[in-house]
Amino acid sequence: MSVNFSKIGVVGAGAMGRGIAQIAAQAGSQVLVLDSFDGAAARAKEALVAQWQKLHEKGKLDEATRDALIARVHPVSSMQQLADCDLVIEAIVEDLGLKRALFKDLEAVVAPGATLATNTSSLSVTAIAAVMAHPQRMAGFHFFNPVPLMKVVEVIAGFKTDPAICDRLAGYAVQMGHSAVRANDTPGFIVNHAGRGFGTEALRIAGEGVTDFATIDRILKDQAGFRLGPFELMDLTALDVSHPVMESIYRQYYEEPRFRPSVITAQRLAAGALGRKTGEGFYRYVDGVMQQAAEPPVPVIDATPAVWVSPRAARRADLLKLIHALGAQLESGATPSSAALIVVAPLGFDVTTVAAVERLDATRTIGIDLMIEDAATKRRVIATNPATRRDMRDTAHALFSRDSKPVSVIRDSGGFVTQRVIGTIVNIAADMCQQRVCSPTDLETAVKLGLGYPQGPLAMGNLYGPTNMLEVLFNLQTVYGDPRYRPSPWLRRRGALGLSLLHEEE
Ligand code: NAD
Repeated sequence: MSVNFSKIGVVGAGAMGRGIAQIAAQAGSQVLVLDSFDGAAARAKEALVAQWQKLHEKGKLDEATRDALIARVHPVSSMQQLADCDLVIEAIVEDLGLKRALFKDLEAVVAPGATLATNTSSLSVTAIAAVMAHPQRMAGFHFFNPVPLMKVVEVIAGFKTDPAICDRLAGYAVQMGHSAVRANDTPGFIVNHAGRGFGTEALRIAGEGVTDFATIDRILKDQAGFRLGPFELMDLTALDVSHPVMESIYRQYYEEPRFRPSVITAQRLAAGALGRKTGEGFYRYVDGVMQQAAEPPVPVIDATPAVWVSPRAARRADLLKLIHALGAQLESGATPSSAALIVVAPLGFDVTTVAAVERLDATRTIGIDLMIEDAATKRRVIATNPATRRDMRDTAHALFSRDSKPVSVIRDSGGFVTQRVIGTIVNIAADMCQQRVCSPTDLETAVKLGLGYPQGPLAMGNLYGPTNMLEVLFNLQTVYGDPRYRPSPWLRRRGALGLSLLHEEE
């Protein structure tokens, strides 16, 4: 099978341009590399040669293939040399004026049938193409860093892009060993839009003093299976990168409350506590190693009182079984006895609201998060309310730790931690489907490959139940009175009808 584009140009030989040149050569294209900085294109080729040599030494590339790959990469020094390329991919600095000027110049050099593509991550493809005489031949082709390892690319249609160009680019992405996902030209495209929920909601939770950064990370990793917690992730990407992205998406969507950034990252950015690379972020790093504080110890309790469980608790039967298995005596009365520990398990609501509505003694009431079944998590999360007595809090902590499963005790919050963060991620993804940013299946592929979440966000919503997701969001909206929790119509309708969140209308 012949490669979709036999001769391509890559303009900009930085981190992204190099990676694109590598996988393009591996797909079988001749690759011309151009950079305005003297010597940069040649250095990019040297880096690729070293890379392929390493693969050869590891036995992953035979000599003939290595030599063929090396012979396909050609550093060039003038735009004129790109005249007979059938595709030119731009990967220069993220600056609208410079990119526009480049495409205007390129258009005058390449043949009329050549395709042009931009690797921009935050600018509008439409805005870049607007200065071109033939914007229909230009599309977004958004790779992720490091390009050879991040196996997904967003193919973005600008306002005037010919759909046939996107088909050809998507086919080429597959030849490069990547999955292509198709997006309309909207701020953040797919991955940077869908990725808004995780960090911003975690920051909201921390900002409310519900618990500390490390506990939020532990909860989301142990309960929902994220590989990195949101604060570890922000330390890795560094706040000088991630805070401006949060601000940019928020502004580009005209201050959509779901994307509202946090003063926490603004302050830390100003202080230079950027993350791993400065040795100080949400965590401290000593010789590059993240310093983890020990978990708070489990309190030692003389005797456990009887436990009364609210009739409205989520997964009540499982909760009763769990408490019994942990060795506590269960009360079966319609109301708790005067000494009982009172346990509630709300979805979306906070412990305070449940205690008030169910007329429970708040001083003895704690909540447990059971949106996800206990057996499917590696951590339990319990929440107090402002009136909870210390002895009741410690009793609950000790009781739910009896089988050695870690327990995090947090302050009251609608939806605990996992419900809030998952609910927000699922809601943003659902709204992207509602807005037709992309298809539900492309959304799932893009997020799994681009963000490394354990499931795509719609599958996540299906796993925990679309109706549960809807309940969590409705109740969060009631507790906080904040439009950021307003359920997307996509989620509202599918949740109400018990349909899969991947379901598309006929
Ligand atoms: P980089 O700074 O590493 O490289 C940019 C290169 O472009 C430099 O070598 C520079 O000399 C060259 N350059 C600048 N202006 C030029 C011009 N007019 N003509 C030719 N060469 C020019 O940047 P990068 O991280 O590789 O990012 C490049 C593009 O890819 C940006 O649009 C960025 O937003 C996007 N992007 C970056 C990432 C990432 O994580 N780094 C991910 C996805 C997309």
